Amino acid sequence: MILFIHRKDLRTIDLPAFDAIHSAGVASLHVLILDPFLLRKERYLEHSGYNFLTQVARLHQDYILAGKQLHILYGEPDIVVKKLVQTHPIEQILVHTDYTPYAVKRDKQLNATASSLGIRFQTYSGSMLCDLDEFMEWSGRAEPYKVFTPFYRRWRTFLTERFRPPYSTGIKDLQTASLEQSVATTFRVPDEVERLLRQLSSRTNDLDAYRKLDHFLSENLQDYTVRRDKYAEDGTSRISRYLNTGAISVRMIYTRLTEEERGAEEWLRQLAWRDFYLLQARLDADFFNYENVFDLTSLGTRHFEAWSQGNTGIPVIDAAMHQLNETGWMPNRLRMITAMFLTKNLGCPFIYGERYFRLKLSDYDNVLNRGGWLWSSSLGFDASPYFRIMNPVTQSQTHDPSGSYIRTWLPELTELSDKEIHLPRPGAIVDLKSSRALAIETYKQILQSK
Ligand code: FAD
Repeated sequence: MILFIHRKDLRTIDLPAFDAIHSAGVASLHVLILDPFLLRKERYLEHSGYNFLTQVARLHQDYILAGKQLHILYGEPDIVVKKLVQTHPIEQILVHTDYTPYAVKRDKQLNATASSLGIRFQTYSGSMLCDLDEFMEWSGRAEPYKVFTPFYRRWRTFLTERFRPPYSTGIKDLQTASLEQSVATTFRVPDEVERLLRQLSSRTNDLDAYRKLDHFLSENLQDYTVRRDKYAEDGTSRISRYLNTGAISVRMIYTRLTEEERGAEEWLRQLAWRDFYLLQARLDADFFNYENVFDLTSLGTRHFEAWSQGNTGIPVIDAAMHQLNETGWMPNRLRMITAMFLTKNLGCPFIYGERYFRLKLSDYDNVLNRGGWLWSSSLGFDASPYFRIMNPVTQSQTHDPSGSYIRTWLPELTELSDKEIHLPRPGAIVDLKSSRALAIETYKQILQSK
């Protein structure tokens, strides 16, 4: 029997591990382990954990609809796996790769446990558009690409020449095994989470990632280039929360995209940013090690508090933080503007913002979030130069001239004219000009001394 553990691959099609199970022609035990370390209460009550559980509930439904078994367990993965191996005739463990430091450590431990029990632990690359190992070998490089554009050109050629079509085995082709009752009892999901999962399973609307994709491709893709930064118009795909949990397959997205013409290239370029960051996370030892490099003022906590509550007096910043707090969503351009504002104008360490987004974003992803925060704080590969600081007022005037986004999220400003609505409010927490000058000077000194 094969043990298959779902992680960031919450779907039942296009999974390399499913093909491997099918070829082996044996029964498989499918489990999803809710890890208390990752799923702390403060997390699942917030947008990011809630979205993850929503996808877990939908995955469970997919198994049930296919007449197959998925066992959702709660516990420390290594302990759960040991127990599963003791109680079931498991000969092999299969998973899809994950690159965060916690996941790497966890998998190293699982690998050691498996080999001490005489079992093979096999990983497959499931979440990227290009298999990064194959891509690096094909490119003849040992080092990751440090600049996006050359990476993108090679990545694009690789896709054209080597794209591997989606894997053909679906859950309906596999023979899933039952779980020993003693294991189900020992690792029972806490009542509160169980109740939440039950509630979420009944809400099947809005869960169909492929319907969302089709809608985007038919309605918005052709204007993507001009609309992606017009954040009041909602012209992007909003597919990220499905991609990051693996609810949708990026290879299937690409297959659909090749049927489209207008806008496809620009959108594909955004998907390349995803692989660019995954590659860094995988190959650059520093990626997860940057810490509080910049802490520019003694007002960090007060500044962070005002920023996170949308109370800075800079309208576009406050509107974006209100949208995030209320819905778990913030468009990309506003993520860049709010992140730069926090790290540069307010002088806070980027990890304050990174941690806040971790709880609040419904599409939270450890690698992409860190990538975005490093970019905004001029750290890591191909980051924004330290002297190019986005001015929130001019950004707002450029991308939403009528201020309709601000009016939606800060209704108290509705009466202001289109001209006034972008401007700092009386008592704004910081002066944009002097804080910008201070940030440039300090960043310059710190970066040059590194
Ligand atoms: P679309 O514009 O429709 O793009 C399609 C896909 O391309 C996205 O779903 C995403 O997978 C990828 N993509 C687009 N832009 C980027 C980018 N700048 N970097 C990497 N991949 C990109 N993205 C997350 O998925 N999770 C995060 O936790 C996250 N945190 C971020 C934090 C900051 C500070 C910043 C600046 C960016 C962050 N991003 C994050 C990247 C980006 O903002 C989102 O991927 C994007 O807004 C998702 O919206 P969409 O699906 O409508 O994107």
